[in-house]
Amino acid sequence: GVRVRFAPSPTGFLHLGGLRTALYNYIFAKKHQGAFILRLEDTDQSRVVAGAAEGIEEMLEWAGIPPDESPRRGGSTGPYQQSHRLDLYRTATELLLEGGAAYRCFCTPQRLELLKKEALRRQQTPRYDNRCRHLSPAQVTEKLSQGSDYVVRFQLEEGVEPFHDLVYGWSKHEVANVEGDPVILKGDGFPTYHLANVVDDHHMGISHVLRGTEWLISTSKHLLLYKAFRWDPPQFAHLPLLLNKDGSKLSKRQGDLFLESFACDGYLPEALLDIVTNCGSGFAENQVGRTLAELVKQFDVGRITNHSALLDLDQLPEFNRIHLARRIEDERLRQQLVTELQAQVEQTYGDQLVDRAVLEKDYVERILLLRKGHVPRLKNLVSPDYSFLWVRPSVPQEQLQTISAEADAIGKLVLGLLERQTAALTTKQLNEDLRGLPEQTRGTKYNSMMKLLRLALSGQKQGPSVAEMMVSLGPREVRERIQAALC
Ligand code: GLU
Repeated sequence: GVRVRFAPSPTGFLHLGGLRTALYNYIFAKKHQGAFILRLEDTDQSRVVAGAAEGIEEMLEWAGIPPDESPRRGGSTGPYQQSHRLDLYRTATELLLEGGAAYRCFCTPQRLELLKKEALRRQQTPRYDNRCRHLSPAQVTEKLSQGSDYVVRFQLEEGVEPFHDLVYGWSKHEVANVEGDPVILKGDGFPTYHLANVVDDHHMGISHVLRGTEWLISTSKHLLLYKAFRWDPPQFAHLPLLLNKDGSKLSKRQGDLFLESFACDGYLPEALLDIVTNCGSGFAENQVGRTLAELVKQFDVGRITNHSALLDLDQLPEFNRIHLARRIEDERLRQQLVTELQAQVEQTYGDQLVDRAVLEKDYVERILLLRKGHVPRLKNLVSPDYSFLWVRPSVPQEQLQTISAEADAIGKLVLGLLERQTAALTTKQLNEDLRGLPEQTRGTKYNSMMKLLRLALSGQKQGPSVAEMMVSLGPREVRERIQAALC
């Protein structure tokens, strides 16, 4: 069956690029009723950051694309941290040493440094000269008995065969002679990326490798390893780059692309999943507002093109607005939003609240339903534009006077209008009624009248329409505010 993996190094937080790679793997697994595995590639211990491993797995859960097998969940092919699999790499290395596909290299760091300097002086790319390939068994035994430090290198064959990538088609990269034979097992007993990656993909039964295109040039090297082990390689699908909309490299500076930051800023995971797939390929059609289930349905690996995906983060609020509206429509998710909004209101306005009733579920839920589709993020509902929902405004009397001398009369008209509305307030009815008000006064224009009412109801010069404000606040609160400010 299909088994795919997301294999990040736990060197920091999960960012948007990583999320995208994980997501394509998740979708591919679900499409084919396969398994999605999280494997942590922590063989470079000097780069491991404490807490990063847990953070990555948590963010996958948050994003709604949890792994089927992982360090936390376990699974039949674990452990899922490479640092816990050292025996496997050692055994695999022995296998290669016995078969002659790998050799011990006793070159000192000083010698390697010299080679490097020499190459740079001649303006060449540094490469290992494969000297230790030619040590005789007797020389090796002698060095070992002296206790000399060594690494193990993989002997690269000349002339690689082309391989077929599901996205990039046929390609091959002459890897021999580029950097020299690569180290596969380091002096400290830890494997390097190439060895660990291949050994694990084999032992974890990985059928398809979906990973960033930066690994395309390493694939020929990996295939030589598979060949040396006599293992069947998985299929490869390299994912095109994710770039900023101007084609520049996606930056991770200031932590702005970390999932944690988006979560803190009030963005929903489904909006992130939608935007990182919308700018790329692989789906029947790109349109805003797709759910994960729809993504799985529409996905076909054959539809991925090798064009870079250009991400326009300015569109994120719009994506979020649509997905927030979807959540509000869903009864169960709406209840979660109610709880969240209650907490935000309490936190933002605390003891300035109109009265504790504005924290009640019915009021908060009504606000959510009324504002559905109007706000990009839940937290916008506690922004100054919407503070009128939660706190009584202080209305500057002088300002009211400068807008219209008829404040009192207008206030009374609105109160009368509320008397006559027997059923629940609707924006449609209120808009009609408000339109009719200028005929009944001595000259205040409609626009000034709205300005006046908005100020009386919210203390603000902007925000939602007056009718919408009235519906949100409800007749009792509207009456109180009109009386307090105008009459
Ligand atoms: N550890 C590698 C990374 O951080 C994994 C590459 C792969 O998927 O093979 O991207």
